[in-house]
Amino acid sequence: MSDLSSLSGKTTRFAPSITGYLHLGHLYHLLILEKLYRDTGVKVLVRLEDHDTLRSRKDYEMVILDLLDWFGFEFFKDSPEPIKQSDRNDIYEEALAKISTSSVFKCTCTRSRLKNLSQNKWYEYHYDGNCLENPPVNPKEFGWRVLFDNRLMEASEFTSDKIIQNPFQQIHSSILKNHIGQWSYQFAVVVDDIAQGVDLVVRGKDVIHTTGRYLQIANLLGVDFNPVFLHHPLVYDQNNQKLSKRFESDAIHNWRLQGQTQEQIIGKLMKSLNSTFKDESINVKEFIASISL
Ligand SMILES: [Zn+2]
Repeated sequence: MSDLSSLSGKTTRFAPSITGYLHLGHLYHLLILEKLYRDTGVKVLVRLEDHDTLRSRKDYEMVILDLLDWFGFEFFKDSPEPIKQSDRNDIYEEALAKISTSSVFKCTCTRSRLKNLSQNKWYEYHYDGNCLENPPVNPKEFGWRVLFDNRLMEASEFTSDKIIQNPFQQIHSSILKNHIGQWSYQFAVVVDDIAQGVDLVVRGKDVIHTTGRYLQIANLLGVDFNPVFLHHPLVYDQNNQKLSKRFESDAIHNWRLQGQTQEQIIGKLMKSLNSTFKDESINVKEFIASISL
């Protein structure tokens, strides 16, 4: 167990994408943020990730913010008004213009071409450099890719040793803005974290492999930026599958509508993390006392 007091005075954020309802994985994340707020005074900002303009919905946004209030999270009461990525298009454009032209290139690859590169691992593929070596001539539709430098990036991780990754070796390059003008999550989150002075990034272990590229994008923007990362375990369902906000059955919002209390819902979370937990319910204070990071 690391010393939590070293995080005192830091700023982190809760940045849900508003493309679905919150599930127990989000609740675990929120309870960790609440612990950091209550135990060490870490400041928690709320940012709505609505860069996916096709799938983001206003009703999800309202339900998410209402749940933060319903659970009584103290960090939320002290958090400034949430910012929304859809209001920040000009800021992302300015950031893109700051990256040296030798580090960005136009990409016209189709989704199916990229899928072939992924060898059935759609979540991660190594780009083959096609549009860098054969630049498209006057393309009507294109995305912008950032070409990573072939160097190791080193990040501070709170819960373990340093994270050392070479994003060029991992994936070669990454989309910053796609062919219909949507900003990538990876790009928007780095620009926003820099702008908001985030120096503690709390997130699930499923994205730990993207840490090097996060830091390198910040470097390419000309910013000396080195936040501390805290990667926490994920919550799985009874079939050992990652929870998804696509499934309404996992939605906390629906359990609330069915009349379940906050304590009963946190009890479900406790059971999925710890099979020896036999009680039906547990409150926020008891739960955060049980978290060891
Ligand atoms: Zn391409």
